Amino acid sequence: MEIVCLDLEGVLIPEIWIGVAEKTGIEALRATTRDIPDYDELMQQRLRIMDENGLGLPVIQEVIDGLDPLEGAQEFLDWLRENFQVVILSDTFYEFAEPFMRKLGWPALFCHRLESAADGQIVNYHLRMKDHKREAVKSFHDLKYTVFAAGDSYNDTSMLGEADTGVLFMAPDNVINEFPQFPAVNTYAELRAEFEKASSRF
Ligand SMILES: [Mg+2]
Repeated sequence: MEIVCLDLEGVLIPEIWIGVAEKTGIEALRATTRDIPDYDELMQQRLRIMDENGLGLPVIQEVIDGLDPLEGAQEFLDWLRENFQVVILSDTFYEFAEPFMRKLGWPALFCHRLESAADGQIVNYHLRMKDHKREAVKSFHDLKYTVFAAGDSYNDTSMLGEADTGVLFMAPDNVINEFPQFPAVNTYAELRAEFEKASSRF
């Protein structure tokens, strides 16, 4: 049995925080896991900047409501789900992801939770567990699945390494150069071809 684990932001949907940076004009919010490998450090920085600017969950949700999945993402995901079990492994939060999940037909999503105050201020975030993408792949192996995975950033590389087949999708040059062991592709057609090549189904 084969299962596909996909990253969310940068693979199926745009980077949420870049959208927030553009909407608010706060350049410092553009930083993503592509720039700062330590996710805790990145989130602390984001929450501090939001707080300093008096921005809360409603602003981010407004931005997210205006964003669509990447071009071709829905068709790609539909094809994947016809051929494999699919789980999205993301370091985003359920509070952010819900509008996208609705647009993508509610695929399975493993991610984290935010804690916000009554006035919308984001007071904390709760990572379900450390390195959960890799732990999920390990657990799927324990359940006797063969695992294929794709992601675009530093926070995906432990998942890609743990998977039977790991592929970088639309990754920036710095990630591609640091992790030459993973094939790197830039279109859904190429990613589909990588999964077909790895699968016993085709
Ligand atoms: Mg990503």
